[in-house]
Amino acid sequence: MTTPTIGVLAVQGDVREHLHALDAVGARAIPVRRPAEIERIDGLVIPGGESTVIDKLVRAFDLHEPLRARLAAGLPAYGSCAGMILLADRIEGGQPDQQTLGGLDITVRRNAFGRQVDSFEEDLHIRELGPEPVRAVFIRAPWVTKVGRGVEVFARVEHGPATGAIVGVRQGPLMATSFHPEVTGDHRVHRFFLDLVRHR
Ligand code: GLN
Repeated sequence: MTTPTIGVLAVQGDVREHLHALDAVGARAIPVRRPAEIERIDGLVIPGGESTVIDKLVRAFDLHEPLRARLAAGLPAYGSCAGMILLADRIEGGQPDQQTLGGLDITVRRNAFGRQVDSFEEDLHIRELGPEPVRAVFIRAPWVTKVGRGVEVFARVEHGPATGAIVGVRQGPLMATSFHPEVTGDHRVHRFFLDLVRHR
């Protein structure tokens, strides 16, 4: 699998930026809007946006069941921000009828950073991505409040009142970040995901 086909869930959110970042690291990136498209992908990116809206549209477009099935069968997936919420097994602060696709054994708190600092940027040191820090952009971001035993934490907030909050996790072929690497032009997180797709 030299050029994996990576689908970007394209019902709402910053789809274009992820398609661009995936292309830049050597994937064949396609938007996913129909069940048939789910069959032909080697990996999936779920972008940031609004998790309640993405959830509703995923169900309305009959994508929920086929996505759940492929994730359960081991499809590699990366969720950013709202995408992290969609990949979480449990959410705090969701809408009463809000569902997730699940797969990651984590509990995610929506809008965890609160109103005061709802959007901010910070340099994070992520060993897996090398010594150069990653500029992390948080936009009304969630964080992870609980992780199951099989979950590896690779990024935490390093400054301010939320210091220590978990903002990057990985479990087998699934990974998620609270921040948006697709908006910075630094494609290391996407390359990391592509390696995960290639080596599984
Ligand atoms: N607050 C949004 C949600 O709950 C996520 C924000 C984002 O993806 N930038 O879905």
